[in-house]
Amino acid sequence: MNIILPTKNLRTKDFLIKDGILYLRYGQSFQNAIYSLTYFMKGKRFCYYCKKSFPRNEITMDHMYPRSTGGPTIPQNLIPSCKGCNSKKKDMTFEQYQHFLAISSDIGRKMYLAKVSSFKEGIKAIGMFEIPNNWITPVKVNAIHTQIDLSDISEQKLKKAISYYQQHHQFQKAIILDRNFFSLDGLYVLLVAKACEVEYVPAIVLENVEVRQNRNIKISKR
Ligand SMILES: [Zn+2]
Repeated sequence: MNIILPTKNLRTKDFLIKDGILYLRYGQSFQNAIYSLTYFMKGKRFCYYCKKSFPRNEITMDHMYPRSTGGPTIPQNLIPSCKGCNSKKKDMTFEQYQHFLAISSDIGRKMYLAKVSSFKEGIKAIGMFEIPNNWITPVKVNAIHTQIDLSDISEQKLKKAISYYQQHHQFQKAIILDRNFFSLDGLYVLLVAKACEVEYVPAIVLENVEVRQNRNIKISKR
Protein backbone atom coordinates (compact mmCIF):
# COMPACT_ATOMS: atom_id res chain seq x y z
CA MET A 1 0.00 0.00 0.00
CA ASN A 2 1.03 3.63 -0.36
CA ILE A 3 0.98 6.07 2.52
CA ILE A 4 -0.46 9.55 2.04
CA LEU A 5 2.30 12.03 1.20
CA PRO A 6 2.45 15.72 0.29
CA THR A 7 2.58 16.00 -3.50
CA LYS A 8 5.56 18.41 -3.50
CA ASN A 9 9.19 17.43 -3.05
CA LEU A 10 10.25 18.33 0.45
CA ARG A 11 13.21 18.04 2.79
CA THR A 12 12.96 18.44 6.56
CA LYS A 13 15.22 17.27 9.37
CA ASP A 14 13.05 14.15 9.79
CA PHE A 15 12.31 13.07 6.22
CA LEU A 16 12.81 13.65 2.54
CA ILE A 17 10.10 13.40 -0.08
CA LYS A 18 11.22 13.15 -3.66
CA ASP A 19 9.03 12.24 -6.63
CA GLY A 20 6.37 10.60 -4.51
CA ILE A 21 8.74 8.53 -2.36
CA LEU A 22 9.35 9.10 1.34
CA TYR A 23 13.03 8.52 2.12
CA LEU A 24 14.07 7.77 5.68
CA ARG A 25 17.54 7.51 7.14
CA TYR A 26 18.87 4.16 8.32
CA GLY A 27 18.44 3.91 12.08
CA GLN A 28 16.14 6.88 12.58
CA SER A 29 12.92 6.47 14.52
CA PHE A 30 10.12 5.50 12.13
CA GLN A 31 7.44 6.69 14.54
CA ASN A 32 9.01 10.13 14.96
CA ALA A 33 9.35 10.55 11.21
CA ILE A 34 5.71 9.58 10.61
CA TYR A 35 4.45 11.84 13.42
CA SER A 36 6.45 14.73 12.03
CA LEU A 37 5.12 14.05 8.52
CA THR A 38 1.53 13.76 9.76
CA TYR A 39 1.73 16.99 11.76
CA PHE A 40 3.17 18.63 8.65
CA MET A 41 0.15 17.52 6.60
CA LYS A 42 -2.62 17.80 9.20
CA GLY A 43 -1.42 20.61 11.48
CA LYS A 44 -0.31 20.85 15.10
CA ARG A 45 -3.01 23.09 16.48
CA PHE A 46 -6.34 21.59 15.56
CA CYS A 47 -8.23 18.70 17.16
CA TYR A 48 -10.01 16.61 14.50
CA TYR A 49 -12.55 15.34 17.06
CA CYS A 50 -13.87 18.43 18.85
CA LYS A 51 -12.87 20.74 15.92
CA LYS A 52 -11.24 23.26 18.23
CA SER A 53 -7.82 24.91 18.15
CA PHE A 54 -5.31 24.32 20.96
CA PRO A 55 -1.79 25.39 21.96
CA ARG A 56 0.81 23.07 20.44
CA ASN A 57 1.52 21.23 23.71
CA GLU A 58 -2.15 20.27 24.09
CA ILE A 59 -2.20 18.32 20.81
CA THR A 60 -1.41 14.59 20.71
CA MET A 61 -1.42 12.07 17.89
CA ASP A 62 -4.38 9.70 17.84
CA HIS A 63 -4.37 6.28 16.15
CA MET A 64 -7.81 6.08 14.49
CA TYR A 65 -7.59 2.30 14.51
CA PRO A 66 -6.07 1.90 17.98
CA ARG A 67 -2.71 0.29 18.50
CA SER A 68 -4.25 -2.26 20.87
CA THR A 69 -6.01 -4.00 17.97
CA GLY A 70 -3.26 -3.63 15.41
CA GLY A 71 -3.62 0.01 14.30
CA PRO A 72 -0.38 0.99 12.54
CA THR A 73 1.58 4.24 12.77
CA ILE A 74 1.02 5.47 9.22
CA PRO A 75 -0.42 8.85 8.16
CA GLN A 76 -3.82 7.50 7.12
CA ASN A 77 -4.28 6.04 10.59
CA LEU A 78 -3.23 9.19 12.46
CA ILE A 79 -4.97 12.43 13.31
CA PRO A 80 -4.05 15.24 15.67
CA SER A 81 -6.31 15.23 18.69
CA CYS A 82 -6.47 17.27 21.89
CA LYS A 83 -5.50 15.45 25.09
CA GLY A 84 -9.11 15.49 26.28
CA CYS A 85 -10.56 13.84 23.18
CA ASN A 86 -7.70 11.34 22.94
CA SER A 87 -8.23 10.09 26.48
CA LYS A 88 -12.03 10.03 26.11
CA LYS A 89 -11.73 7.99 22.89
CA LYS A 90 -9.66 5.32 24.71
CA ASP A 91 -9.11 2.32 22.41
CA MET A 92 -12.20 2.84 20.28
CA THR A 93 -11.79 3.17 16.52
CA PHE A 94 -12.64 6.49 14.86
CA GLU A 95 -16.05 5.11 13.82
CA GLN A 96 -16.82 3.54 17.19
CA TYR A 97 -16.00 6.85 18.84
CA GLN A 98 -18.36 8.76 16.51
CA HIS A 99 -21.07 6.28 17.44
CA PHE A 100 -20.24 6.67 21.14
CA LEU A 101 -20.48 10.47 20.92
CA ALA A 102 -23.90 10.23 19.28
CA ILE A 103 -25.29 8.41 22.33
CA SER A 104 -26.73 10.92 24.78
CA SER A 105 -27.32 8.90 27.94
CA ASP A 106 -24.61 7.75 30.36
CA ILE A 107 -26.11 4.29 30.64
CA GLY A 108 -26.30 4.03 26.84
CA ARG A 109 -22.62 4.98 26.55
CA LYS A 110 -21.65 2.47 29.23
CA MET A 111 -23.52 -0.30 27.41
CA TYR A 112 -21.93 0.66 24.12
CA LEU A 113 -18.43 0.58 25.68
CA ALA A 114 -19.12 -2.91 27.03
CA LYS A 115 -20.26 -4.03 23.58
CA VAL A 116 -17.16 -2.58 21.91
CA SER A 117 -14.88 -4.19 24.44
CA SER A 118 -16.42 -7.65 23.97
CA PHE A 119 -16.23 -7.17 20.19
CA LYS A 120 -12.50 -6.45 20.55
CA GLU A 121 -11.97 -9.55 22.67
CA GLY A 122 -13.82 -11.53 19.99
CA ILE A 123 -11.70 -10.37 17.09
CA LYS A 124 -8.51 -10.95 19.07
CA ALA A 125 -9.69 -14.47 19.87
CA ILE A 126 -10.09 -15.31 16.18
CA GLY A 127 -6.73 -13.80 15.35
CA MET A 128 -7.82 -10.65 13.52
CA PHE A 129 -6.82 -7.02 13.58
CA GLU A 130 -9.27 -4.15 13.61
CA ILE A 131 -7.87 -2.55 10.44
CA PRO A 132 -8.84 -2.75 6.75
CA ASN A 133 -7.90 -6.17 5.32
CA ASN A 134 -6.32 -4.68 2.24
CA TRP A 135 -3.61 -3.00 4.31
CA ILE A 136 -2.12 -6.40 5.12
CA THR A 137 -0.02 -8.75 2.98
CA PRO A 138 1.58 -11.99 4.17
CA VAL A 139 5.35 -11.73 3.73
CA LYS A 140 7.93 -14.48 4.03
CA VAL A 141 10.06 -14.06 7.14
CA ASN A 142 13.24 -14.86 5.16
CA ALA A 143 12.59 -11.94 2.80
CA ILE A 144 12.58 -9.34 5.57
CA HIS A 145 15.69 -7.26 6.30
CA THR A 146 16.21 -5.68 9.63
CA GLN A 147 18.68 -3.76 11.67
CA ILE A 148 18.48 -5.48 15.02
CA ASP A 149 20.25 -3.80 17.86
CA LEU A 150 20.35 -6.51 20.51
CA SER A 151 20.60 -3.94 23.30
CA ASP A 152 17.12 -2.70 22.30
CA ILE A 153 15.49 -6.08 22.83
CA SER A 154 13.72 -6.62 26.10
CA GLU A 155 13.67 -10.28 27.14
CA GLN A 156 10.48 -9.72 29.05
CA LYS A 157 8.69 -8.07 26.13
CA LEU A 158 9.81 -10.89 23.83
CA LYS A 159 8.57 -13.55 26.24
CA LYS A 160 5.22 -11.77 26.46
CA ALA A 161 4.96 -11.52 22.68
CA ILE A 162 5.79 -15.21 22.26
CA SER A 163 3.21 -16.23 24.82
CA TYR A 164 0.59 -14.01 23.11
CA TYR A 165 1.35 -15.79 19.86
CA GLN A 166 1.12 -19.22 21.45
CA GLN A 167 -2.19 -18.35 23.06
CA HIS A 168 -3.89 -16.62 20.11
CA HIS A 169 -2.02 -18.13 17.14
CA GLN A 170 -1.71 -14.58 15.92
CA PHE A 171 0.74 -11.71 16.19
CA GLN A 172 -0.19 -8.63 18.18
CA LYS A 173 0.14 -6.47 15.08
CA ALA A 174 1.48 -6.50 11.55
CA ILE A 175 5.12 -5.70 10.86
CA ILE A 176 5.62 -2.50 8.82
CA LEU A 177 8.08 -2.77 5.91
CA ASP A 178 9.48 -0.35 3.36
CA ARG A 179 9.31 -1.20 -0.34
CA ASN A 180 12.50 -3.28 -0.09
CA PHE A 181 11.05 -5.25 2.87
CA PHE A 182 13.23 -3.42 5.37
CA SER A 183 11.58 -3.54 8.77
CA LEU A 184 10.33 -0.13 9.99
CA ASP A 185 8.15 -1.13 12.92
CA GLY A 186 7.13 -4.35 14.65
CA LEU A 187 10.51 -5.93 15.34
CA TYR A 188 8.92 -8.29 17.88
CA VAL A 189 6.68 -9.76 15.18
CA LEU A 190 9.83 -10.87 13.41
CA LEU A 191 11.50 -12.14 16.58
CA VAL A 192 8.40 -14.13 17.56
CA ALA A 193 8.14 -15.57 14.05
CA LYS A 194 11.75 -16.70 14.23
CA ALA A 195 11.36 -18.12 17.74
CA CYS A 196 8.17 -20.01 16.81
CA GLU A 197 9.43 -21.02 13.34
CA VAL A 198 6.60 -19.30 11.49
CA GLU A 199 7.17 -18.93 7.75
CA TYR A 200 4.95 -15.93 6.97
CA VAL A 201 4.07 -12.83 8.98
CA PRO A 202 1.29 -10.28 8.43
CA ALA A 203 2.93 -7.18 6.97
CA ILE A 204 1.99 -3.68 5.91
CA VAL A 205 4.29 -3.03 2.96
CA LEU A 206 4.73 0.68 2.26
CA GLU A 207 5.42 0.84 -1.48
CA ASN A 208 6.29 4.55 -1.46
CA VAL A 209 8.69 4.49 1.49
CA GLU A 210 12.38 3.66 1.29
CA VAL A 211 15.08 3.51 3.94
CA ARG A 212 18.40 4.81 2.68
CA GLN A 213 21.13 2.52 3.95
CA ASN A 214 23.93 5.04 3.49
CA ARG A 215 24.09 7.98 5.87
CA ASN A 216 24.06 10.77 3.35
CA ILE A 217 20.93 11.03 1.35
CA LYS A 218 22.04 12.41 -1.98
CA ILE A 219 19.33 12.97 -4.48
CA SER A 220 20.36 14.82 -7.60
CA LYS A 221 18.02 17.42 -9.02
CA ARG A 222 16.61 16.67 -12.44
ZN1 LIG B 1 -10.58 17.60 21.02
